[in-house]
Amino acid sequence: MGRMMNRNLMIQQLDATPEWDVCIIGGGSTGLGTALDAASRGFKTILLEQFDFAKGTSSRSTKLVHGGVRYLQQGNIKLVLEALKERGLLLQNAPHLVHNQQFVVPNYKWWEKPFYGIGLKIYDKMAGKLGLGPSEFLSKEEILKLAPTLDPEDLKGGVLYHDGQFDDARLAISIAQTAVAHHAVLLNYFPVSALLKMQQKVCGVWAKDSFTGKEYEIKSKVVINATGVFTDSIMKMDDAKHKSIISPSQGIHLVVDKEFLPGETAIMIPRTDDGRVLFAVPWHNKIVLGTTDTPVKKAVAEPVPLEEEIDFILKHIGRYLTKDPVRKDVRSMFAGLRPLVKNKGKKTAALSRDHLIDVADSGMITITGGKWTTYRKMAEDVVNISIKENDLKQASCITSDMKLYGHDQPSPLFDIASLNRLQLKTILKKAMEEEMCMTIEDFLSRRTRQLLLDANAAITAAPVVSELMAELGHKDETWIKDEISHFNEIAKHYLPIIN
Ligand SMILES: Cc1cc2nc3c(=O)[nH]c(=O)nc-3n(C[C@H](O)[C@H](O)[C@H](O)COP(=O)(O)OP(=O)(O)OC[C@H]3O[C@@H](n4cnc5c(N)ncnc54)[C@H](O)[C@@H]3O)c2cc1C
Repeated sequence: MGRMMNRNLMIQQLDATPEWDVCIIGGGSTGLGTALDAASRGFKTILLEQFDFAKGTSSRSTKLVHGGVRYLQQGNIKLVLEALKERGLLLQNAPHLVHNQQFVVPNYKWWEKPFYGIGLKIYDKMAGKLGLGPSEFLSKEEILKLAPTLDPEDLKGGVLYHDGQFDDARLAISIAQTAVAHHAVLLNYFPVSALLKMQQKVCGVWAKDSFTGKEYEIKSKVVINATGVFTDSIMKMDDAKHKSIISPSQGIHLVVDKEFLPGETAIMIPRTDDGRVLFAVPWHNKIVLGTTDTPVKKAVAEPVPLEEEIDFILKHIGRYLTKDPVRKDVRSMFAGLRPLVKNKGKKTAALSRDHLIDVADSGMITITGGKWTTYRKMAEDVVNISIKENDLKQASCITSDMKLYGHDQPSPLFDIASLNRLQLKTILKKAMEEEMCMTIEDFLSRRTRQLLLDANAAITAAPVVSELMAELGHKDETWIKDEISHFNEIAKHYLPIIN
């Protein structure tokens, strides 16, 4: 695995390749997984991302690698079985970024313990050999030992179970590095603006390097649309009469200090008053609280939490904790958009989390929906279909036991607030040379997770990060000024208004 993920090298390869086998639009979990799957089967593969890798939904998840206890409640056995298998594979293949996380479900009503206990025993059974540990019934004393800040009043006991937890943006980079090691070419800041067509068939794309403004005509036997909540915009490039299939649904998270939930155990509330699941999960020495499910009309690159979503999470989590978090306790907050596939008349919380693969008359293949957890299986399915529908040689998927880049190295640094200038420079250099980190937002939001862990600390770090990046990348004062002002514009939406 010696090949570097370096943007200049990638552009050289783009220039030197007259035609690709597979061209993927979108660099989130679905697109990156597809690039790894296709490249490792031996296909000449290119991926184009309009911003940074995982800039969209794939860096804004709840950070759970899970079968989805909730989907079990909805009776979606197939989805749960598939996700539990993928959860087990991810723990084996990316141990540097995914770990076994213990959860408790507190019970405040007499029927909850047997009800959730039996459900979670079924969940264990479904995981089979890839299970992460058996669920257990807990007494009130036992659950309070694990989650000491749970409200003890009327607490009857609880159930303990296991799921996976991960760092989403770092896993995206690890998948990208593995794909590059298998000779894929991946380009960030490369928006696709049109499709190339010959005799009604899609045979490539038009894309532009956002830094140089240079346009590229990129020919490919297969074009795969993996653009998440932007799926419809690419489908419209293919067919102007296309009717939208995506219903974006926003979910937000609030990040608070560890004192609100000390220890290593997460809390899962299966059903709030209005029927939602609520999590409080330890993550990089902070606690992530979430999430919401709010239908939105338009897909945007930087979704912003709504006031009522912030209030909803604070109010509901406060009911279960001894100390209620308030707005001033929020260190950061982030919003993501679920690319749910439309189903007329259903509420977004009930829309399918299953993935959809569509083959257009033009031959363009669209993959959307699904979850982070199932990215590998989604990629396997879409590449299988690409082979079947096109002139590609038969080759089998080899990703199920493929170790991901970095699996044998220590976990990367997520919180950089305590680093000195020299330490910061070392990890910045690595991020710029080996991880295609191009902006200070890439670094503070996705190569490290500073912006999501503590937005004020990220704003404080922005000047020194931009200075060091300018030094390493030979940029001038104007670049530094523009970077800081662009970053601050984004970062201000990661802190709630204190009222
Ligand atoms: C609040 C929330 C919590 C979640 N929690 C979990 C969880 O805990 N576990 C789990 O398994 N799943 C979770 N999910 C689901 C999971 O995050 C998504 O299913 C997954 O990230 C979708 O990835 P994607 O690649 O399809 O989309 P995206 O990550 O959005 O990627 C699509 C990419 O396409 C790019 N793009 C768009 N148009 C163009 C263009 N013209 N040219 C080039 N590029 C383009 C975009 O910039 C974007 O980067 C959660 C989702 C949300 C919203």
